[in-house]
Amino acid sequence: MAVNEFLEDLIQTEIMDIVGSEDVSVNKVDRYAYSTDAFWVPRMWLDRLQRPCFPDFVVHPESAEEVSKVLKVANRFRLPVIPYGGGTGSQGGTVPLIGGIVLDLKKMNKIIKIDEKSLTVTAQTGINGQVLEWELNRHGLTLAHYPASEYGATLGGYIAARGSGTLSTKYGKAEDMVMSLEVVLPQGDIIRSLPIPNHSCGPDVRQHFVGSEGTLGVITEATMRLDPIPEERRFRSYLFTDLATGLEAGRRIMTHRYRPCTMRLYDPPSTQKFIKRVLGLDVEGSFMVTGVDGPRALVDLEEAGIREICESLGGRDLGSQAGEVWWKQRYDFYYPPFAPDLPELFGTIESTTTYDKILSLYEMKKKVIEEGYKEWGATYTGHFSHWFPWGVMVYDRFFIKRPPQDAHEAMQLHNMIWADAARASMASGGVLNDHHGIGFKLGWLMPEQYGAAWQILAGMKKMLDPNGIMNPGKLGFSFHG
Ligand SMILES: Cc1cc2nc3c(=O)[nH]c(=O)nc-3n(C[C@H](O)[C@H](O)[C@H](O)COP(=O)(O)OP(=O)(O)OC[C@H]3O[C@@H](n4cnc5c(N)ncnc54)[C@H](O)[C@@H]3O)c2cc1C
Repeated sequence: MAVNEFLEDLIQTEIMDIVGSEDVSVNKVDRYAYSTDAFWVPRMWLDRLQRPCFPDFVVHPESAEEVSKVLKVANRFRLPVIPYGGGTGSQGGTVPLIGGIVLDLKKMNKIIKIDEKSLTVTAQTGINGQVLEWELNRHGLTLAHYPASEYGATLGGYIAARGSGTLSTKYGKAEDMVMSLEVVLPQGDIIRSLPIPNHSCGPDVRQHFVGSEGTLGVITEATMRLDPIPEERRFRSYLFTDLATGLEAGRRIMTHRYRPCTMRLYDPPSTQKFIKRVLGLDVEGSFMVTGVDGPRALVDLEEAGIREICESLGGRDLGSQAGEVWWKQRYDFYYPPFAPDLPELFGTIESTTTYDKILSLYEMKKKVIEEGYKEWGATYTGHFSHWFPWGVMVYDRFFIKRPPQDAHEAMQLHNMIWADAARASMASGGVLNDHHGIGFKLGWLMPEQYGAAWQILAGMKKMLDPNGIMNPGKLGFSFHG
């Protein structure tokens, strides 16, 4: 929505009246800063000196009550509201596509209660992930959610994007950790989900907001499940001659109900490309790192069981050193100089499916990327990092070293690759996304993924947000709700 100067002054005064003059900005520097998240497209757009999608206002509320009042103003003016945590999202979820109010929640960063008996924490959702973890560690506790973006991301972002951390194989995804939520609904009502996550009181209101990416309300407070810091955590690595054997080892480990805290299997190209560069380990084949944690006796047992399975399939035990180094450097893979960056064109097109389909999903996507975009020299790599008793996620990426210089051509090429890759995931029995979310990057494919079931999500959006103010254009919802 383009706000004229007269309206801008009028609305700014009303918002200042709610949050104070310090906490509303209309200056150009802020508008630039909040015009992008970590998504390649808006960053490329800025990089190629195109005019970005500016917000009209950047607002920093400090309580659910302030959020509620801001939403009421936004409804009156039919002004979009975009909840903003750390802005580390990679799907364009915080990009103000048609302007409006960016609601930066980082001032809502208080820990309200740590319950050391039930092992839960209640906190405002603007709290930084790393800060929350440090505070919990002081109490001998951990959230055990370690995304590579934890330095910048917020608790609200973890929940709103249904994220996954390095230890998800044992400790679960963000949605498994949420006990209960406080949410400000689009029209300003402040609600709470039931205090207990497991119940038989009908469908689960809490989970309606997990993964809602700011389109159904603003999550202002969360109670999360915790774990004690484990007595012991050990890492070990193995080398398989090929990917299929590594996948079979992972499947057997999970279906035997071992619970490694981490298990990451790299395909041969990423073993070559990343394991060598980041860990300095010159090996060929499929590299796997495993981690086990908990009481020492359990760690001994799980480590031995996992080793037996790997060795029975010909996996070479590389000992503990590479695994320990991997753990220390686990985030390095996602930052320069090891991660791709502009001007290169790249995307992380992760998906999850069951064990019977995972290898064919990987092979199909590799083919779609490398053969379909041969003229662009496209390459594809993948690793398998979030494991379930029934299947696994592939974290796969495409890379094009020399994309078109023209911003419009570059965007179109980017979008075509994404559509082909995402459709290959869905055709192979996988989901559109595992843990980065949908944003506007994949929103247009949501009705295709859900089929007739899409009406349930679309109906919920219409009911909760009749004016369509919450994060328009994201998660597949239209600009008008
Ligand atoms: C280098 C790098 C590494 C990454 N690694 C991982 C990883 O290992 N695992 C992983 O899961 N993700 C990862 N991500 C993606 C991203 O960091 C996560 O999705 C993270 O959870 C987003 O948190 P945020 O606070 O930055 O959210 P934002 O980017 O600010 O927002 C993400 C979405 O959630 C909405 N939102 C944010 N807060 C709220 C709220 N309180 N209420 C309602 N809606 C809200 C926004 O509107 C937006 O749609 C990575 C990103 C980068 C750049």
